[in-house]
Amino acid sequence: MYQEDIYRLSPNEWEWFAQDILFHLGFIVHVGPSEGADDGLDMIVERNNVKYLVSCKHNHKSKKSVGVRDEQDIRDRVEQHKCKGFIAFYSVGATTALKKKIASLENAGIDVIEIYLDNVLDIIPTMVGFVLQKYFQRPQEIHHQVVCGGDYKPLKCMGEGCDKDIISKEQIPYSLVGFYIDNKNSIHFIYGCKICLADYCTSPYWAEIGQIRYIEEMLNWRSVVDKVTSQNEPAPDFYKHWALLQEAILQIQIPQGWGRWI
Ligand SMILES: [Zn+2]
Repeated sequence: MYQEDIYRLSPNEWEWFAQDILFHLGFIVHVGPSEGADDGLDMIVERNNVKYLVSCKHNHKSKKSVGVRDEQDIRDRVEQHKCKGFIAFYSVGATTALKKKIASLENAGIDVIEIYLDNVLDIIPTMVGFVLQKYFQRPQEIHHQVVCGGDYKPLKCMGEGCDKDIISKEQIPYSLVGFYIDNKNSIHFIYGCKICLADYCTSPYWAEIGQIRYIEEMLNWRSVVDKVTSQNEPAPDFYKHWALLQEAILQIQIPQGWGRWI
């Protein structure tokens, strides 16, 4: 999980990380973390002609929500720096009282954007690897399962009577994708445990799940799929299974630049 890795960042690193995330979200950075004096200003960014004052809070030790006392005179600070908007960029949440205060800024015509830990965790998987590598070590290990909780969709082995989730951390090393050519010469897309599919992988082409979770390898696999479907008639369920696989792999995909499968 990124959460623990986020809490390992220093407050200063958190500000740099905030800058990278905001840039990734399409903001222009006017005043970056190193330039911002400590008068309640961490950064000034702009998007769609609106300038925002960014307040970064990183309670990495206490993990306590940011409260009203930690964010004083937001309105004054925003006006003082000639901004029209305010961005709360917190590695934790905000107290109810602070959320109310932030909401009241909107009534005063200030454009407010709140980015809390949950949002950051959602944004991280959409960022490029080389940026994340500045902050996180061994990303492929912590990157497993970018979708958490209720949104996660397992991919069940197609082997008969097997119910294993082949994209789970435990099963990835024992799982593969391949093709089965039936007696009518049409080709089926199959995935599952290596043991369960041993007798069915009748095409010379196959790949490991641990391999195609690397985006470069997934691109290679795409061309393999194009090749086999040009050689054999795809079975009616071929593209359904190919789509299910791609959807599942997206959940564990290792972004570009995070190393290659060896
Ligand atoms: Zn199986």
